[in-house]
Amino acid sequence: MDIHEYQAKQLLAKYGVAVPVGDIAYKAHEAENVAKWLDEPIMVVKAQIHAGGRGKAGGVKIVRSVEEAIEAADKMFNMRLVTHQTGPEGRSVHRVYIESGVAYDKELYFSILNDRETAGITLIASTEGGMDIEEVAEKTPDKIIKVRLGPAAELQPHHARSLSYDLGLKGKTGRSAQKLFMNVFRAFLDLDATLLEINPLVTTKAGDVMALDCKMSFDDNALWRHRDIEELRDDEEIDPLELEAARHDLNYVKLPGSIGLMVNGAGLSMATMDILKYYGGSAANFLDVAGAATPERVAAAFKLIYSDPGVKGILLNIFGGMMRCNSIAEGLVNAAREVGLNKPLVVRLEGTNVELGREILEKSGLPIQPVNTMGEAAKKIVDAVKGL
Ligand code: ADP
Ligand code: MG
Repeated sequence: MDIHEYQAKQLLAKYGVAVPVGDIAYKAHEAENVAKWLDEPIMVVKAQIHAGGRGKAGGVKIVRSVEEAIEAADKMFNMRLVTHQTGPEGRSVHRVYIESGVAYDKELYFSILNDRETAGITLIASTEGGMDIEEVAEKTPDKIIKVRLGPAAELQPHHARSLSYDLGLKGKTGRSAQKLFMNVFRAFLDLDATLLEINPLVTTKAGDVMALDCKMSFDDNALWRHRDIEELRDDEEIDPLELEAARHDLNYVKLPGSIGLMVNGAGLSMATMDILKYYGGSAANFLDVAGAATPERVAAAFKLIYSDPGVKGILLNIFGGMMRCNSIAEGLVNAAREVGLNKPLVVRLEGTNVELGREILEKSGLPIQPVNTMGEAAKKIVDAVKGL
């Protein structure tokens, strides 16, 4: 689960990390109140969306008066923000954060993440803050500093010291940075975060170190022990289809392809995606109808995929072990009738009561294309969506 920048900053502040003072607005008149309350000589108005790259896209505005702040916030509430992370359709802005402007000295980069490569925790820092870190890593890899920890290890003061030394931070600034690294690490562990990124982390002439931006992601499987964090979820930032899927307990992930997939079991889902790719197709989603799929769940899953405008055709590949093929066929036929099926639908059913299942599909009179093998299924759906 992801949260907004201002929420991440509030969490950081609880762990003793310095952040600029600010407040959130959901409406233009609230932005006016915040700006009047803050009333700093320099303020920064920031669109809150779950995507980075806002600065370059007009989602971060530095202003010098309350009037300018109100005007900038107004504009943001009415804008669709397109950054390199939102995709071309962009995101509409529902929340705007206004905080005090910081006269910083240097912009640094600092993040902590669960590292799949080492199966541990990795800290990444760089003197090249405020920029796209992927680009820094590609063009100037020597500017990336990494500290790799084992999965059960904790950050030690000597790690924090050498990090701030490697960043060229000295004296009071160096000591402030060490303290900040320790505090951020504590937040990362305590809150079951999977990613905590501060970009930029800035230093000031007075020797302070501050987080001007923050992105935090959390382990969904640990949210049950962080109810307060779960409450920070912003449904407006979640793909509506993913929200609907969560409501039906379906494992659904939206993908950019054109073929909707309905499969049971994560393994079979992955294999289906592979074989689809092999025959030149691309999946519009990952969907695992999981274990006990009743006709109702099958219908809900089908309708969900069908309603995705990016889906040109659907491939259903289900092995009926615990759930019987006749139940699956029943759910599918009902849902297909309900939506008035007019997209190609290829079905491969296998397992318990498969003959009964096929009979239901045939008798339905719907334009469903039944096949026997996965290869056939993939070929058929790829052909069917060609040119659509
Ligand atoms: P994004 O990463 O989405 O572009 P940031 O919050 O990092 O958004 O803001 C972009 C840039 O704007 C920062 O690199 C920094 O230079 C500047 N900035 C952001 N917040 C402040 C602030 N409170 N004071 C001064 N400058 C800021
Ligand atoms: Mg940033």
